[in-house]
Amino acid sequence: MDLSGKSYLITGASRGIGKAIAEALAAAGGKVALTARSTDALNAVAASIQANGGTALALAADAVDADAMADVLSQTVSTFGGLDGLVNNAGMIDPIARMEAADAADWAHIFNINLVSPVVLTRMALPHLRASKGALVNISSGAAHRPLEGWSAYCATKAALWMATQALHLEEGEAIDVYGASPGTVDTEMQVQIRASGVNPISQIPRENLAPPALPAAGVAWLLAARPEDLRGQDVNVRDAAFLQRAGIQQ
Ligand code: NAP
Repeated sequence: MDLSGKSYLITGASRGIGKAIAEALAAAGGKVALTARSTDALNAVAASIQANGGTALALAADAVDADAMADVLSQTVSTFGGLDGLVNNAGMIDPIARMEAADAADWAHIFNINLVSPVVLTRMALPHLRASKGALVNISSGAAHRPLEGWSAYCATKAALWMATQALHLEEGEAIDVYGASPGTVDTEMQVQIRASGVNPISQIPRENLAPPALPAAGVAWLLAARPEDLRGQDVNVRDAAFLQRAGIQQ
C-alpha cells in the first residue's frame, strides 16, 4: 500500500479506531490531519506518527463547532496542498438508556455528533474531494442495521448516517468514492463505557474478544488505497473474513 503524496483528514483521531486509522494511513506514506477535542492526546498521536517518519498535523476542535471544523479543513488543505480522503470517525454512544428514560437533549446531542457533524464536514470537504477525485469513509456500525435495547439513540444515529452515506454516493459517486465501514466490536474507550453499562448483549462481550483498533483501521486504510469499485456506496464490514482475505489483512 503506497499513499505517498496523499492527504487525509481523520475525525476522532485522539484515541481508539480513529487514532489507528491515522497511524495506518501514515504508515503507508499518507499525510494525516488529526482532529478531536483532546489537544494533548492529539499532539501525542501526531508526535508518535512523526517519530516513526510520518507526516501528521494535530488540529483540536469540537466536531459540533462548524467554524472550528471549517478552520481544521482549511489548515489541512493549505498545509498538505489538498485533500484526498476524509474519514468521518468521531462518534459517541451516550445516552445508554431505555427510550422512556432518555433525555431529549441527549438525543439531540448524539445526533449532532454522529450524524450532523459528519454531514456538515462532508459538505465543506466536497469541493476539495471533487478536485482530487478523492474518497470518503463514514464509520458505521452493526448498530446501523440491528436494534439493541438501551441503544435506541445510537442505533438511530448510525442508521441515519448509513442512509446519508448511500445518498451521498448517489449524488457524488461520479466524482468521489464513498464508503461506509463497519469496524465490528473493537477494544476502545467506547467499549469500556458499554461494558460498564451492563446493558444489552454487547456489554457482556469479554474484553479479550474485542478486536484491536489496528484491525478495522487496516481495512479502512485499504479501502482508501484500493478504492474498490464494487464496494462504493456499500456499508463494508471490514472484519468480514472474505474482505480481510481480499485486503490481505492478517487477523
Ligand atoms: P472512542 O474511543 O470513544 O473514540 C471516539 C473519538 O471521537 C475520540 O477521538 C473522541 O475524541 C472523538 N469525539 C467524541 N466526541 C467528539 C466531539 N464532540 N468533537 C470531536 N471529537 C469527538 O470510540 P471508538 O470506539 O474509537 O469509535 C470510533 C467510531 O467507531 C465511532 O463512530 C463509533 O461509533 C464507531 N464504532 C465503534 C465500535 C467499537 O466497538 N468500538 C463499533 C462500531 C462502531 P475527544 O474525546 O478527544 O474529542
